[in-house]
Amino acid sequence: MSRKWHSVSKACANIALAKYWGKVDVLLNLPAVPSISMTLDGLVTETKLRVDPSLDTDVVELDGRVATPAEAKRVVALLDDIRRRAKRKEFAHVVSANRFPTAAGLASSASGFAALAAAADRGYQLGASERVLSAVARQASASAARSIYGGFVELPAGKPGKKSLAAKPIAPADHWDLRIVVAQAAKGPKKVGSTEGMERSRHTSPFYDAWVEKAPAITKTIRTALKKRDLDTLGAAMEQSTMAFHSCAMTASPGILYWQPATIAALHTVRALRDDRGISVWATMDAGPHVKALCHADDARKVRRALRETPGVLETLVAAPGPGVSVR
Ligand code: ADP
Repeated sequence: MSRKWHSVSKACANIALAKYWGKVDVLLNLPAVPSISMTLDGLVTETKLRVDPSLDTDVVELDGRVATPAEAKRVVALLDDIRRRAKRKEFAHVVSANRFPTAAGLASSASGFAALAAAADRGYQLGASERVLSAVARQASASAARSIYGGFVELPAGKPGKKSLAAKPIAPADHWDLRIVVAQAAKGPKKVGSTEGMERSRHTSPFYDAWVEKAPAITKTIRTALKKRDLDTLGAAMEQSTMAFHSCAMTASPGILYWQPATIAALHTVRALRDDRGISVWATMDAGPHVKALCHADDARKVRRALRETPGVLETLVAAPGPGVSVR
């Protein structure tokens, strides 16, 4: 039998500008709030897939090792979805590598499941549209739905039972020459996973309902500012979105605190760059300690230098708007 790969795909991670926090339907993995992201160049997952009739189970390798049962389960669930749609039964050999710089601190699940959806689609000769691939990837990880597309992308809020929810592109990568400067504030994996953190927030935070109610208006401000290339308006709304979702996490019971001392130091650096030096730079954090600063391309060097000099910041990196998923 030929050892040739049937497909090789690439997808980039993304950063949410309008944050995603909370699910309306955990089983279908439907978000409670709309989110908007920028796909990030250079933070790439590459996934190879071979449909192999001689296998009696799927074989999954991640970053040069056999995937753990929990990791393999999420991959197999996505493969099952594609096989069902393609009316195929054979198992697959999947080899995936997250080619992220070590300082990334960014969700590998977004690029990982976007790349997997595209590789499986090609491998099983389904020929699905990007919209369908986005819905398939969303079931594995909501942020993966956005990584199917390049540039600036929106994932609307879900409605319970609406299985086909997909992301949609808002503007291409060359719409706006922005940069994300990532300041790594700690090493190691986060202590509370996103799904667990979201569910705990939903069930126990007194701020959760207020967040879900307010998020669409914040997202609208971000969408409009993005189209107009108005960074000050977008950045202020992005910071509000970030603080609102972290407030939900912090006020859950037991409280979830993703921040480290370097997180707060980096937040103050971003504010000082704005207040003292007049640079339009704005901060966001995901469910983790790292600070991601959004600025114009021309300011990225100054922002990076200031974050690198911030006490406790371990490493920094800069990413530009990146492309959508590709497969060969
Ligand atoms: P979150 O759960 O918040 O998205 P991560 O991005 O750290 O956090 O998700 C990590 C999980 O995503 C891993 O434990 C693994 O299950 C899955 N994952 C990461 N990279 C890949 C990949 N390249 N292919 C398939 N699954 C992946």
